[in-house]
Amino acid sequence: MPFFQGCLFGLSLGLFAPMTGCGGGVSAGSAAVCTQDTFVPNYVGEIGGLLRWERVPVRIYFVRDANYSDTRQALAIQGLEQWMAAASNILKYRIVNSESNAQIKVRFDPSTVDGMTDYRYFVESGLLSDADVKIGIKGNNSVDIQSVAAHEFGHAFGIRGHSTNREDMMYPTYTSNVPLAITSSDLNTMKTAYCSLFQPLTPAPRSRRYETLVHERIVCPQHLHGEGEAFR
Ligand SMILES: [Zn+2]
Repeated sequence: MPFFQGCLFGLSLGLFAPMTGCGGGVSAGSAAVCTQDTFVPNYVGEIGGLLRWERVPVRIYFVRDANYSDTRQALAIQGLEQWMAAASNILKYRIVNSESNAQIKVRFDPSTVDGMTDYRYFVESGLLSDADVKIGIKGNNSVDIQSVAAHEFGHAFGIRGHSTNREDMMYPTYTSNVPLAITSSDLNTMKTAYCSLFQPLTPAPRSRRYETLVHERIVCPQHLHGEGEAFR
């Protein structure tokens, strides 16, 4: 039975804390060999836990509504590619043309400069089931669209919260028109989620028949004030 939840500014710490800081990667059920200290520096301890997709490539679909354009998709993919490049293309994705075949659905929202990611995941394994990403395009700034996309894809790939270091991609706010990079802390946090991709293990079969599927929402308050600094 899915559990639905929404909350501002990230995660719902009160519900559960199923993750140990070690994800599985390509296959579920791999023995846990990563700890929070395997890939450092990271901010695993600052967030509500890590989730992950069971295998890569992750299938992504851009919803063809009135706000879609090839240019916006290209900008969003540039943001996503920042993660892929940082992770030496060990993380993988595939753009699909069928919504029903997608694991992550992406929409553009002209009413806001914020981003938001909804996802459902299985509590016991921490495996993601599906995710919806909204990318605010109100400012119509190419740099910002790419940054918001990169940030939201960070959530959609399993980072459940925000960094407290404003240098990190996963810091909750940004400065308009200033490109953001994936920091070593961003990358190491993601690598911890996908532990076995970066430290291959022999997978073990696992059934999720008896797992609990839950829903969360991360709203990223990237409000811009004037021309310069974002809301802090
Ligand atoms: Zn966020």
